Amino acid sequence: MPGSLTRRIIVLCSILGGLLTLLAGVLLSQSMQMNSSLDWVTHSSDVLKAANQTIARLNGAESAQRGFVLTHDLAFAATIDEEISTARQGAAQLVDLTRDNPTQHARARDIRTLVEQRVEHIRQGLAMARANNFPGARTLAATGEGRFLMRLIKARIGDFTSDERALSESRMLAARNRLHTMAWIVALVTPFTLILIGLIASSLVRRIRKPVGAMMSVMEQLGSGDRDARIDMSMESLEFEQLARGYNTMVGELATAVADQVDSQERLHRAHLELSHNADILRERGEVIELLGGMAHRMQAARTDEELAAVIHVFVPRVLADMPGALYAHNNSRNLLIPIAAWGDLSVEQSGFAPDQCWALRRGQSHFVIEPKSDIVCPHAGPGADHYHCEPLLAGGEVIGVLYLKGVVEAESRFRLTVLSENIASALVNHRLQRGLREQTIRDPLTGLFNRRYMEETLALEIARSTRSGQPLSVVMADVDHFKRFNDEFGHDAGDTVLQVVSAEMRSRFREGDVICRYGGEEFTIIAPGTTAATLAARVDAIRQSISELTVNRGGQMLGTVTMSFGIATWEESMERDGSTLISAADSVLYQAKREGRNRVIVNKRVGKARKEAVAVS
Ligand code: GH3
Ligand code: MG
Ligand code: MG
Repeated sequence: MPGSLTRRIIVLCSILGGLLTLLAGVLLSQSMQMNSSLDWVTHSSDVLKAANQTIARLNGAESAQRGFVLTHDLAFAATIDEEISTARQGAAQLVDLTRDNPTQHARARDIRTLVEQRVEHIRQGLAMARANNFPGARTLAATGEGRFLMRLIKARIGDFTSDERALSESRMLAARNRLHTMAWIVALVTPFTLILIGLIASSLVRRIRKPVGAMMSVMEQLGSGDRDARIDMSMESLEFEQLARGYNTMVGELATAVADQVDSQERLHRAHLELSHNADILRERGEVIELLGGMAHRMQAARTDEELAAVIHVFVPRVLADMPGALYAHNNSRNLLIPIAAWGDLSVEQSGFAPDQCWALRRGQSHFVIEPKSDIVCPHAGPGADHYHCEPLLAGGEVIGVLYLKGVVEAESRFRLTVLSENIASALVNHRLQRGLREQTIRDPLTGLFNRRYMEETLALEIARSTRSGQPLSVVMADVDHFKRFNDEFGHDAGDTVLQVVSAEMRSRFREGDVICRYGGEEFTIIAPGTTAATLAARVDAIRQSISELTVNRGGQMLGTVTMSFGIATWEESMERDGSTLISAADSVLYQAKREGRNRVIVNKRVGKARKEAVAVS
């Protein structure tokens, strides 16, 4: 557990302060004692000075008195009183100054007494001299009492000053000793104190420099971008540990705040990207919808399969770029998917394929192979199809067609594909409905053959085409023989059945390009472009033959056999362009066939308006 740096500083400074206080106290005490010693030395000096003054003035008074007595010169007498007074003051001062020293004090009092006696002796001689009693004065002096007193006083003052000097010297010695002691104390304590201050300072500097260096290093790391840099908290002092902990906490919170900020910025950036991505998707979807809207509009307006295929051929590659494909429409009567358009470099089998050849149609949902052997391959796609997409086109659960795309439809193109397939499906349904409605207007509902109106339109068109191309055009008029009998014998419905049977036979026997129409009742017209009557006659006779061999039955009831009569005519330039003359020409030989016994084919060999020649085929 590290100690407190503050406490350490306080303790060390206290020790240092204590030492300095002690040193100051010792020095102060020594100085005061030395001062006292010096005071005493001064005192002794004053005492000696007073003693010297006393003896000197007393000597002066004695000399002046002697001079006056010997010379009678009053000038000598002038200073005597002053000398005496000063000598007495000196003696009194001695007594006063030595009150602290009983021995010297007793001596001083003794000296003062002797000084007073000597002064009295001088005054007596002085008084005689002043009274002009100089002989008396000389006699008094001759007694030697004065000299005796002076010697005594000198001896006493000599002893006194000798002792006082010794005392002064001992006091001076004491002061000097104290000075030496102070010098020694200063000499000894000063280096010790300096060493102690140095040790304390170096200890503190070391204890501060190390953690400060560590902190500065970590701060530099932080400054250079290392956000994980932390201060090692095992410091030697509590204060720096707290500082390090505080710093680490602060940096941690700073890092968290920065991380939060970075996180917020990243989330903001992601949101922005997502927003712009969504905006792109919306814009793209808007474009796709606009494009598909244009396509749907054109498809709705398409009248024929060719027009529908042309619209698909133009628009689908624009919606799904760089993706070859084909559109198959379901042919209900043949139950086949027939290609109506292909784009890109795709070649398709024109014969189409059965619905069960496509897994999308079998499952009723998208079927795609994104890499070889990742899923089952539709047989219609062929063995080499390793990545393709089949989108079923359904409406009300009914198969309308299938959209085959060679390639992988990416996730972002799914929306395009969905809208595209829905548009195409609805267009195909619409097209089929339109075609159905049109069929209803041109087909005879009982036999499924074209009706008379269609026959008349087609005949006029074919006449115009034949005129342009020079290709022959022939027409067959056919009538069921004794049809009325079926009605009469088996009922009207039985008659309808006979009509359906012969119609089906004719549909299956005539050529693809021949237009088989119900003219009315039990009469039929067959328009045969590109064929002369002569060529046609053999085929018609074969059909006649096959019809005559049919055995008609209805719901298990045998209706018997049926025969038909046929009249054939070929269009000629001289005929009316609306076809009426041609029909009449065929009709006339049909009635000829009736007249000649029915169940036969007669060709109208007419050339021009004038000539009319019929040739019986059978
Ligand atoms: P021919 O051999 O001379 O042609 O004798 P036919 O009996 O076939 O001719 P006819 O003109 O005498 O009779 C035609 C009959 O066909 C008259 C009509 O009632 C009947 N008929 C016309 N249209 C239909 C139809 O749609 N269904 C049925 N069942 N009968 C029809
Ligand atoms: Mg008839
Ligand atoms: Mg008839």
